[in-house]
Parts: sequence; C-alpha cells; structure tokens
Amino acid sequence: MSQDRVSFRAPKGTRDVVPPESWRLQALYDLARSIFAGSGYAPVETPAFEHTEVFARGVGETSEVVTKQMYTFPDKAGRSLTLRPESTAPVVRAVLEHGLHRGALPVKLYYAGPQFRQERPQKGRYRQFLQVGIEAIGSARPTVDAEVVEIGHRFLRAAGVEPRLKLNSIGHPADECRLGYGRALVEYLRAHEADLAEEDRGRIDTNPLRTFDSKEPETRKVMEGAPVITEHLCPECKAHFDAVQDLLSRVGVPFTIDPRIVRGLDYYTRTAFEFVAGGLGSQDAVGGGGRYDGLARSLGGDDVPGIGFALGVDRILLAQSDDGGAPRPVEVYVVAVGDEAASPAFELVTRLRSAGIGADLDHLGRGMKGQMKDADRSGAHFAAILGSDEIAAGEVTLKDLEAGAQERVPIAEIERRVRP
Ligand code: AMP
Repeated sequence: MSQDRVSFRAPKGTRDVVPPESWRLQALYDLARSIFAGSGYAPVETPAFEHTEVFARGVGETSEVVTKQMYTFPDKAGRSLTLRPESTAPVVRAVLEHGLHRGALPVKLYYAGPQFRQERPQKGRYRQFLQVGIEAIGSARPTVDAEVVEIGHRFLRAAGVEPRLKLNSIGHPADECRLGYGRALVEYLRAHEADLAEEDRGRIDTNPLRTFDSKEPETRKVMEGAPVITEHLCPECKAHFDAVQDLLSRVGVPFTIDPRIVRGLDYYTRTAFEFVAGGLGSQDAVGGGGRYDGLARSLGGDDVPGIGFALGVDRILLAQSDDGGAPRPVEVYVVAVGDEAASPAFELVTRLRSAGIGADLDHLGRGMKGQMKDADRSGAHFAAILGSDEIAAGEVTLKDLEAGAQERVPIAEIERRVRP
C-alpha cells in the first residue's frame, strides 16, 4: 500500500471555517437574514456557476475581474461556464429569467454564499470567499439608494464592525454627464501619461475611470490632481446624488464623499459606495455597492434600474471587535449512570430534541464524573441524570447547572421543566 496520503491543506487561496469561528459565521448569516428580511428583502439562491457571458456582459469585458480573475472552464458539451466572481449579474439574470421585474416593484432580494476569483491570496483576500448582499431592482428613486446604503451600514454595525462609508456618484453615460467628464479625464491623463504606471497607460483608451482604482503608487499620485466626476454631473444626476446625501443625513448615516470610488465594474451608474473598516491592513474594504441601471439591458433584458451591495464576510469576521457569536449551548445534557442507562438516555435525548429542546449526551461511555464535566463544557443549563434508580421510578434527576440545585422530577414532566 502506498504511504502517500492526500494533502490536508485546502487549495491555495481557500480556507475552512471551523469552530469556534464557524459559530461567528453562522451568527453573521442569521444577522443578515434578520436585518435584510426585516427590510423587505427575500432570499434568493443562484447557481455557483453561470454561462461565461453573464459575467463578460454583466461585469464588463475590460474589468480586471473578467480579464484576469475568473475561473472559466468548458463543460462536456463545450459550453463555457464560469464560477461566479460576484452575484449581482447572476441575481439580475435570475430576475430576468423568472420575469420578477414584471411583478411588484422593486424586486428586493438578498443572498449569501461563496464567490470565486483567481487573485493573489493574502490576508483578507481569498480565491473562494463569502459574501452577503442585497439587490433592489426596479426603482430609480433615491430613497432606494439610501435604503440600501443604510441597511449595509446597520448590518456592519450590528456585526461589530465600525464601518466608514465612502460615497460617490459616477453619473450616467451621456455627453452632458459621465461621457463629457470622461473626455476631460482622458485629456488630463494624456497630459500626464508619462507619469502613470505602465499598466495603467492602456486604460486611458479602454476605461479611463478605472485609473482611480489603480493600486500603483505612480498612478495614484497622478490621480490626486485629476478632475472629479462630482463636478461634472448633469443636473438630474446631481439632484439624485443630493437627495441620497440628504436622506442618509436624515437617518444619521455618516459618510464622506470620495471621488475615487468608481467601482471596478462597468454597469454602475450614479451612486457608488464602499465601506471600509480598521484593523484589516491593505484589504480594508468590507463591502461596496452601487446603482447599476445599465446592467439588465447589457444582459439583453428590459431596461430595469437596480442598486445593491456585496459585503465580504471573511473580512467582517476578521474585523469583528467582539466575539459576536459564541457557541449556541444545548439546553440539557443527559447523563447516563451505568451501562443500563445508555439506551434510555439515548431515548430521552431524542425525545427532548424532537420537542425542540437542545440536548446532547456522551458517546464515549465515560463515567459519571466525566459526563458531568462534559455537561459543564457544553454550556447546558441542566444536566438530566439517569441511573437505575431513576429508571425504576420513571424519574430523572434534574440538576440546574447554573443554580447548583437538583431534584427528582417525573420523566413525563421533563420538557415542561427545562423549556427555556
Ligand atoms: P467587490 O464585488 O469587488 O466590490 O467586493 C465586495 C466585497 O467583497 C469587498 O469589499 C470585500 O470585502 C469582499 N471581497 C472581494 N474580493 C475578495 C477576495 N478575493 N477575498 C475576500 N473578500 C473579497
């Protein structure tokens, strides 16, 4: 037999979430469901892979995500499929497929799940990472923008992360708005072309706004003096942006205007935002989002406006200041004294669980002392002790592990006695 064994290391750039961190992850998902559903968002689940063109068209052929980071592969029939690098395009695709945009508007959805990008792994950056996000599809009004931003802000605060919100508007693609601004920007970039990082020079023609996204120090320096979009917005986009800011101020969501928030994706219009958090080093963005009024049409669907955000769950877990998700203790730990109590103990545990009461028991045949230790460790409120005496009397010794008191109670009454 070969001595070789499978490598125990998860693939590069991926990670396992094991206890106790997995408790925090679960608590975060519970929080997401309660906050998003409590604001009228319904859950949605889309496939982990899509036809490649969903991202090529929906994320933008020139974006870094599409050109460099996608896991793309042919299936056996030769179709090109891609592991989703983000979920906005898939959610909009699903809305179009199911015609949800022809029903009650806006369509408000939330999701949680893994995304895949082939990036260079580092702290807070993985090749498979988790996101939660919301999408509001079918309204162009600024109240939706403010709602989405406020929900993201509230969620992050409830998760124990103190987010800083950076807000911007990138207008809409028309001569009197982003296109006109784009020309002013191109002119500026041409004048400073020699000072830009080499890899950013090509962007002047393909996607000049992206130069704001650049991580290259030379480019960043040039961008400090670049014209900013907020000074070139058309009257409608400016009014929209002013309204979003006013709404956020009214509900006490603090923000700073940051003209560098242009988002990496082509389909964004008007509102663009990012949440950053301390303590994360260079990967300090915990989430971002924006309005994508052009996305449904670029997928070949109707002209349906939308806005949403995606939050990086792994980074939230890293940034959390408290341990917002201790293990959920079981309510009752059933202690079996002697071999003859093992089967009745199993029956009792099953009965409690079936009644919706969290319960656990020993599976290693430990002695009473060891089982009582396990009961303490489990965090249970009660130990329910079953020995031959108790079994003969149809009773159980119920010990309140918090108060220390114990008494015999009829086994028929146990659910009533321990129910929290
Ligand atoms: P994006 O769709 O790029 O705006 O991503 C939204 C959020 O997802 C970011 O702010 C991060 O918190 C998170 N995120 C994006 N890429 C990664 C990654 N490779 N690893 C971990 N988190 C990520």
